[in-house]
Parts: sequence; structure tokens; C-alpha cells
Amino acid sequence: MKTLKIAIQKSGRLNEKSVEILKNCGLSFENYKSSLITSVSNFPLEILFLRDDDIPEYVQDGIADLGIVGENVITEAGAKVTYLQKLGFGRCTLKIAVPSHSKLTDIQQLEGQAIATSYPVILEKYLKENDVKNVQIRTISGSVEIGPGLGLSDAIFDIVSTGGTLKSNGLKPFAEVMKSEAVLIGKEGTDLNPEVQELLQRIRSVLRAKETKYVVLNVAKSNLQEVVNLLPGVKSPTIVPLFEEGWVAVHSVIAEQDFWEKINSLKAAGAQGIVVMPIEKIIT
Ligand code: ATP
Ligand code: ZN
Repeated sequence: MKTLKIAIQKSGRLNEKSVEILKNCGLSFENYKSSLITSVSNFPLEILFLRDDDIPEYVQDGIADLGIVGENVITEAGAKVTYLQKLGFGRCTLKIAVPSHSKLTDIQQLEGQAIATSYPVILEKYLKENDVKNVQIRTISGSVEIGPGLGLSDAIFDIVSTGGTLKSNGLKPFAEVMKSEAVLIGKEGTDLNPEVQELLQRIRSVLRAKETKYVVLNVAKSNLQEVVNLLPGVKSPTIVPLFEEGWVAVHSVIAEQDFWEKINSLKAAGAQGIVVMPIEKIIT
């Protein structure tokens, strides 16, 4: 059996969640912070710990078969890789920001201005698509938000999470350019071998489980149909009789996103003693 290699971030914002998702897939490995590579003992897989910036190229060139990295980093690297699965963490937005007192209203007004960024490729593409000309892109590797204060640039283009960093540097968001999250990538144009497919299936079952909750509730038989109508289940809900005559317990799953709305509707429909539990995996 071929031993696969997956590249994940060594340390930083994506490291912990990347390790967690692999562990939730049932993979057993030591997470030595100091080593660059570790072997999984119960799956033909090696994990490479790299700087996130290097991951797209490692996968593009086939040095790693798979990688977990932010879409922003892939786009910036211009790497030709296949997106296998969005992973739902490492979410962020890349925005152009301008000084708080700025009167700019239209991105065309950026013409002739200087913008400091660590993402020159993404910025250039955006400006081109929007036909904004003569912008000076000043590429710097970090602390981009101090650019305008130092007179280095008129605006910045960077990852914005809360807006707090912008505000404390006298800046405000101006234009949203890209949304990003961590994705699982593979080499472009190759068939997925059985080991990759197996891993992908496990990752998807972990993601599905995260999006859903297991619900158990009691309901009088007279209200059962109404309650069941609110609960899809994986196939359909399980109904178990209670010791008390005329009552049943209903077991089902519901989507995390409509959790509160569903719980309220279930109560209104006569559900009692509602217990909600996390799900580890859903294999379909
Ligand atoms: P490395 O040492 O691996 O090069 P880094 O300093 O470039 O790390 P991190 O700050 O750890 O990168 O961020 C990694 C990725 O996390 C980003 O490229 C982005 O996709 C994602 N991310 C999510 N939220 C944020 C945020 N608030 N700020 C920065 N990155 C974020
Ligand atoms: Zn980086």
C-alpha cells in the first residue's frame, strides 16, 4: 500500500484544527511540535508540518499528496491544485481598508493610490477585474495595518477578522475582496487513489457529524405525527415506546444551524424532556 503524505501548518491559526480533524478521523499519531514529519500508526499516512505558505506548492509538485491550507494562501501562490473539501475552519475575509477619515466612496477612486499588502497577487487580480488602474502595490510581509500611519501607503489590503485591529490603527474597511476558509487540497489532474478516497470519506463524515446534533425527546402518541414532521433523522426518526402507556421516545438528528428554531417548534408541538447530544461521526 502506498504511504500518502499530507501537509499541514506547523504552528499558527490552522495547526490545531488541522490536527483535530485528522485525529477525529481515527488517525493515531504523535503531534511532536519539534518534528517536521510524523507517521500515522493505523493508516498509510505521513504528516508533514510546514509553513502554510509552502503547502500549495508542495501539493502542486506532488511532494505531498494532500494539504490543508487557507484558500487565500492557495490563490496568492497561484498554485494549480484541486480543492477536495472545504473544512469549515480558518474562516476569514480579505478587505481593502482606508483611513477612518477617508471620504472614498468608490473603488475607482483608489486610482493613483498606494496600497500596502502581503497579498499582492489577489489584490492585483481584484483591481484588474474592477478596472482600477495605476495603483501602486507595496508588498510587505507583516503588520500591513501600520502602512498608512507611517506614510507608506494610502490604503491597505489584508485579512480582517474583527475590525478591532483596523480601528486601533485608525482604519476602516472599504471593500471586501475575498472570503477564505481552510480547504483540503490534492494534486491537480490525478485520480483519487483508494487511500485518499478513504481519508476523504472519513473527513466528510466528521464534518457532517459536526453540523448535526442527536436529539432524544418524549411525546404523547397523540402529538407524535406533528413532532415527527419536524424531524428528518438520517433516514427517518426512531420511535421507541415508553413504559408509560400512550407515550413514546423519538430519536433523531437535526442540523446545527436550525437548532433553536427546531427546539422551539418541537416544544410547541408537545415534545418534552428534550436531550441534545453531539455526534462523533455519521457514516452514510
Ligand atoms: P506560517 O508561520 O505558517 O507562515 P502565518 O503567520 O502565515 O503562519 P497564520 O496567522 O497562522 O499564518 O494564519 C494562517 C491562515 O489562517 C491564514 O492564511 C488564513 O487563511 C487563516 N486565518 C483565519 N483567520 C485569520 C485571522 N484573523 N488572521 C489571519 N489569518 C487568519
Ligand atoms: Zn504564512
